[in-house]
Amino acid sequence: MLSEKYKVLSDPECMPLIEQAKKKLGDKIFILGHHYQRDEVIQFVDAVGDSLMLSQTAAKTKSKYIIFCGVTFMAETADIITGDDKIVLHPDLSAGCPMADMAPASQIRRAWKELEKVIGDTSNVVPVTYINSYAETKAFCGERGGVVCTSSNADKILKWALSQNKKVFFFPDQHLGRNTAHRLSITNDQMVLWEREKENGGLSEDKIKSAKIYLWNGCCPVHERFKYDDLKTIRKRDPEIKILVHPEVPEELANYADYMGSTQYIVNKIEQAPKGSKWAIGTEIHLVSRLAKNHPDKKIILLGTPICMCSMMDRISPQYLLWTLESLVNDKVINVVKVPENITQNAIKALDRMFELT
Ligand code: SF4
Repeated sequence: MLSEKYKVLSDPECMPLIEQAKKKLGDKIFILGHHYQRDEVIQFVDAVGDSLMLSQTAAKTKSKYIIFCGVTFMAETADIITGDDKIVLHPDLSAGCPMADMAPASQIRRAWKELEKVIGDTSNVVPVTYINSYAETKAFCGERGGVVCTSSNADKILKWALSQNKKVFFFPDQHLGRNTAHRLSITNDQMVLWEREKENGGLSEDKIKSAKIYLWNGCCPVHERFKYDDLKTIRKRDPEIKILVHPEVPEELANYADYMGSTQYIVNKIEQAPKGSKWAIGTEIHLVSRLAKNHPDKKIILLGTPICMCSMMDRISPQYLLWTLESLVNDKVINVVKVPENITQNAIKALDRMFELT
């Protein structure tokens, strides 16, 4: 828990102290910052990116301590991918991802057993989990011949899974699963939503037997807030504006957006866009604001009026970063993220399968 010493500091008071601590620690530390982090934190990171790219960057550095400014599943992935010579720290261990929380391995195991009872043999089902899930969920998939996917490679992964003439159980984001399946010409009547709170996912035996894809009923509460009505309103106001969304948005909006892609896709699309072009973007507000600030020659607005901010990402404040750094300066290693060995081994199988396929 953050002590009073740090709680009383304002953001501007933290800035020079973070600089000093960083200087003292030098190459011993490497700070990673997810795109959705606030600017007050991003200004101190050594690399900015999406969760997988950051974990891969961490694996290549020589620094002993990796400080992951993001949510905890990201730090877990960094711990799994980096070797034993690196120690991964997360400034605020209470900053978990609500979507990952919706797919705990215990609930998935129960659903899998129920599925087995109905279809008899689950060796015909490929479990696929979005990288936005906890290590134990990744391990569940790895243990059963399944795989991890990202929002950049979900098409390829789903195509691979279906090409074996198998069914797919997709965790935890129903929207990414559904929107990706649509791109592969899978229709809604071939997919069912598995409601995790209900027995047999709330589905009849016939539905379970005939479905090609089971979609876990998880979602990102931030991206789910973007609605088709937002798109209609903005298009009516400005027919020339392009609508660019993340695939975690609901189906109705995804179907009518001009472009849809991962966080990195959104960043690249805006970087490559012509001067004077106009964009309404459906993703987390910190990234949209940063893109608008970095591209003053383009008109960039948030799609919709609600403040689509990830409150968990926002928990990583300059105060928490300072606490982590000053503790290291004083030889105190805090907020270590260490995935148990048995989970790491199985999660790696699911991650390696993704690397082989993409
Ligand atoms: S933006 Fe959504 S998926 Fe990303 S960390 Fe926040 S809740 Fe999780």
